[in-house]
Amino acid sequence: MTLLSSTIYFVLGFLLAYLFPRMPGILITRGKGFNVNFPPHPESIPLTPYLTQRVLHMRMFYWLGLVAAIIPLAFGLISLRWGNVPFGFGLWLSSGWFILSRLQSFMGGPKPPWTLDVAERLQIIINDSKSDDSACCNFSSPEWLLTGVYCSVCSKELENMPRPDLGRKRSDGFFMGFIRLLSSDGHPMFESNSKNYDTDLGQAEE
Ligand SMILES: [Zn+2]
Repeated sequence: MTLLSSTIYFVLGFLLAYLFPRMPGILITRGKGFNVNFPPHPESIPLTPYLTQRVLHMRMFYWLGLVAAIIPLAFGLISLRWGNVPFGFGLWLSSGWFILSRLQSFMGGPKPPWTLDVAERLQIIINDSKSDDSACCNFSSPEWLLTGVYCSVCSKELENMPRPDLGRKRSDGFFMGFIRLLSSDGHPMFESNSKNYDTDLGQAEE
């Protein structure tokens, strides 16, 4: 095998194993039928039980990626032993790295964009907006903008929590959306506590 073909096989294996475990979170929820309860991307999303459920689904697909990564990892090892060595090494290195980086969050590393904590915080805001002594106005109607949760009636910030990708079909098209999701891994494009309501409404990224 020449150096060139080895390199091509390695890159091919690496890319395959890079994409494979990320597919559940990128593809599964984008269909039209999955998003009938949400306004189209990138509009703000009203806080409803559907949204809380979506956060939990995104969380599930995130961790499902870890299970999915076992497949290229295993194929990589098989290929290293009995098949094409550069291809197997590419598969093995890429999926091994993916698994290690995801497991980091158990050792104080960065948290996933969708956690039980996020779902609970959303639910608490929903409950609060329905109660008589809500955090803002009498007609409190919270919605999730890019930089946090705001009341759509009085514009008060209810929670400083940037919005991650929520599995809607993206306004930037399939290809750009795909690239953006791969590069951000679903994390919000904004840091907390930097923007206000007015600038937020004009933005189109997630
Ligand atoms: Zn309000």
